[in-house]
Amino acid sequence: MELSKKALEIKSSLTLEIDAKAKKMKADGCDVVGFGAGEPDFNTPDVIVDAAKEALDKHYTRYTPVVGILELRQSICDKLKKDNGLEYSPNQILVSNGAKHSIYNALQAILNPGDEVIIPSPYWLSYPEMVKLGGGEPVFLETKEENNFAIEIDKLTELINDNTKAIILNSPCNPTGCIYNRELLEQIAELAVKNNIFIISDEIYEKLIYDGEKHVSIASLGKDIKDLTIVINGMSKAYAMTGWRIGYAAASEEIIKVMKNIQSHSTSNPNSIAQYASIAALEKTEKAVSESVLEFNRRRDILVNEINDIPGLSCKTPKGAFYVMVNIKDILGKKYDNKPIEDSLSFCNALLDDQMVAAVPGAAFGIEGYIRLSYATSVENIKKGTERIGKFVTKLQ
Ligand code: PMP
Ligand code: GLU
Repeated sequence: MELSKKALEIKSSLTLEIDAKAKKMKADGCDVVGFGAGEPDFNTPDVIVDAAKEALDKHYTRYTPVVGILELRQSICDKLKKDNGLEYSPNQILVSNGAKHSIYNALQAILNPGDEVIIPSPYWLSYPEMVKLGGGEPVFLETKEENNFAIEIDKLTELINDNTKAIILNSPCNPTGCIYNRELLEQIAELAVKNNIFIISDEIYEKLIYDGEKHVSIASLGKDIKDLTIVINGMSKAYAMTGWRIGYAAASEEIIKVMKNIQSHSTSNPNSIAQYASIAALEKTEKAVSESVLEFNRRRDILVNEINDIPGLSCKTPKGAFYVMVNIKDILGKKYDNKPIEDSLSFCNALLDDQMVAAVPGAAFGIEGYIRLSYATSVENIKKGTERIGKFVTKLQ
């Protein structure tokens, strides 16, 4: 029996695996504190749930156009105009089953064998695997904690060659929380336009931004860069809608048409009820979103303080998203249960065994010496979890 060589190279999503393991342990009665997957713990706001109920009552339960219903695509255009200063028409929008699906479609639409895609590292773990699924090759652009994980433009320039097809940008970034400012985005845009490189701009954490920072979409920096950019966004994070599976892409009509054709043969339209609910999410949740941002901000500050109080651990204050990268370099080499903790994976495994705290190893995001904690969980859990992490670290010899 021979399976697809390409498919066999693909790793499973470690964030989803760790989340499933923590949820199962919880269901089995274990007192697990989950800092694993980035999933808001808030309920989806009532106004969104009500819109879904209304859609059900109206029996909006049939196939919709592959690209999504016109009302939702119009609403997305209005949002892009209002929030990002971007002019798109509904035929430049494709609604898909989550932003993950939108990115997947985008890569399938642009890549040819041997094309290189530059991915700033640490990165969200699905990007390299999706590039490989599209027949392309991920090329990593290393960023460092000392520079707040910002892209260094000289290093980016060095990586560009004739095979470079696209750059994936993710601001605010999962896992680092880093935000790309206008000046940096202008430099990246200039490089992309000069070398005719696509930009996939994953802006799913756009609303989750703190300390007065501003989100800038690279597509808003001029017509030439807009033509090369595929803007990605979705409902999961800002509106606590992870299970509803709605994301979208905005790009030139030419790109969207190819992405639509791919989607038409793989998943057809995304769920009809969730599409109606998403209109309410985009149009009626301003207050709910600003309340959750305030709450995430509060949790971030508590988590960062608690971590920096633990000897041997440290972290910077992230400016966006809901993750903290904890530096564990001083801990590596110490022993747990007589075995040395050699890397971020063995740290996370031992932490889960010993203290029932779930975290994601930095290795999953392409960086060693760090673990990622998600603060999309209650203050009570953050306090309990960090106390346990502190106990774990003091036990190590
Ligand atoms: N991009 C990033 C950076 C993410 O962290 C996630 C989280 N799952 C996604 C895209 C995809 O989100 P979803 O498919 O739930 O819309
Ligand atoms: N994006 C979230 C995370 O990074 C959810 C899990 C996933 O889709 O990978 O944890």
